Amino acid sequence: MSDTLADANVEAAEGEQDIPILFLQGVERHYQQGDATLHILNGAELAIWAGQSVALVAPSGAGKSTLLHIAGLLEHPDHGDVFIDGRATAGLPDHERTRIRRNEIGFVYQSHHLLPEFTALENVLLPQMIRGLTRDEARKRAVELLGYLGLQARLNHQPAELSGGEQQRVAIARAVANAPRILLADEPTGNLDIRTADHVFAALTQLVRASGLATIIATHNMELAARMDRRVTLRDGQVVEME
Ligand code: ADP
Ligand code: MG
Repeated sequence: MSDTLADANVEAAEGEQDIPILFLQGVERHYQQGDATLHILNGAELAIWAGQSVALVAPSGAGKSTLLHIAGLLEHPDHGDVFIDGRATAGLPDHERTRIRRNEIGFVYQSHHLLPEFTALENVLLPQMIRGLTRDEARKRAVELLGYLGLQARLNHQPAELSGGEQQRVAIARAVANAPRILLADEPTGNLDIRTADHVFAALTQLVRASGLATIIATHNMELAARMDRRVTLRDGQVVEME
């Protein structure tokens, strides 16, 4: 493992090991549908430690995306709190939540959301430059990450010139470009054929292990979920460990 990729690892190792990097406490999320209230999350609890990978496996509509959005500070819970590295976030002002999200959390979605007019390299450079790195520093890490994900020959391709699996690997590189400590992936291989999904998932889990990230990956694929450290599901709005 190279120095840059290992940075997050060192930080994680120096941190307080018994505090989960991500802790959802009594999270509730309700949606109003006509006269009915849908209790999508109803006291959901989930703790994840640095270096841990968790598969979130539940049927469509169970609340996986809702849980990931709340864990990633993109949405507020109606009740409960989200602790990042031991710090409660529900009461923080928006700019502080945004800062934590930008520094500590990476997202991968089902579709890649890459900027179409930029190359693979530029898509991975940009978040780092927005965060204040120089172009040279950002470029070094982008080249390394894309190389690590097997894309060294695709640096200057635009998304439309890449296969679906390659696009998702660029999206993964972009998500971890700023060395977050938490990676949240919402059905990241849901649009890919089985073989490509397998390949992308292998790259993702290898990166997660090597960098000491804590990760939640929502997936329908039990075979892929079996390769992660833990498997959880949602039952009646609560997180339940699976065997
Ligand atoms: P999953 O990702 O597991 O498929 P979601 O978290 O996207 O599930 O959605 C869970 C449930 O909440 C679904 O029934 C969905 O229709 C409902 N839902 C999600 N977002 C909203 C919203 N903004 N307003 C009303 N209902 C919503
Ligand atoms: Mg979803």
